[in-house]
Amino acid sequence: MIIEPHIHMFSRTTDDYQSMYRAGIRVCVEPSFWLGGDRRYAGTFFDYFRLILEFETVRARRFGIDHFAAIACNPKEASNTRLVDEVLAGMGEYLDHERCVALGETGFDQINDAEEYALLRQLKIAQERALPVIIHLPHVNKSAGIERTVQCLRKVGMDERNVYLDHNTEDTIDMALDETRCVCGLTVYPYSKLTPQRVSAIVRRVGSERIIVSGSADWGVSDPLSLVKVVEYLKADGHAEATIDRLVFANAMAFYSRSPNWRPRFDLKPVDPSEFQR
Ligand SMILES: [Zn+2]
Repeated sequence: MIIEPHIHMFSRTTDDYQSMYRAGIRVCVEPSFWLGGDRRYAGTFFDYFRLILEFETVRARRFGIDHFAAIACNPKEASNTRLVDEVLAGMGEYLDHERCVALGETGFDQINDAEEYALLRQLKIAQERALPVIIHLPHVNKSAGIERTVQCLRKVGMDERNVYLDHNTEDTIDMALDETRCVCGLTVYPYSKLTPQRVSAIVRRVGSERIIVSGSADWGVSDPLSLVKVVEYLKADGHAEATIDRLVFANAMAFYSRSPNWRPRFDLKPVDPSEFQR
């Protein structure tokens, strides 16, 4: 049984849901993200939040997958401060939604002051609501990105056990584990990001205590079955069952259990497509 802790199903097809179910993925979390172009209106964010909290959940359930969402103004759209303020002003009702289990993803992309402003404000919102937070580490300048992220966590006095710091690589994982108490994510992609081989080597070196693996699939060349491939590779590479279970199930379960809305169901059954209502 697998929990996919970070995936953008909004951008995926029904075939993806079917193959995820067949491969043993039963629960997933969809953080808010960029839609391929910068949005110009706060209202476009709000409609998207509602869509991933409501329709996407219904769609996933038809395929036997329990789908939750995380709500935030994502890092790629955090440089327009006026829009960020408008989005954050109206975000409360979506964070209150029964399918919302975290604030996210937030964090740095270009690593600039406007992104820091959006991150700090969202960390404070999460603190006030005692919500877990999903933080995205930038894909370039990883070391600078994690240093500035950690400074922000310190600035607001964040309870780091409530933070899932995602997209670590060999360049950031030591700092993430040694200098924070965050849960640390490794993301596996077919071309960019990590491969199952690199995950295996990192886990062999640093252990699996606070590590979560995600597929993080979206519009790009990505793979909703990344976690399945990680499980297969790690098994063949001699990792213990308990280690693999922590990476793709137990650690994500423990992290999201910090949200009162996290009541995942692992017993959903796919509905016959002829019975779909719309
Ligand atoms: Zn993402």
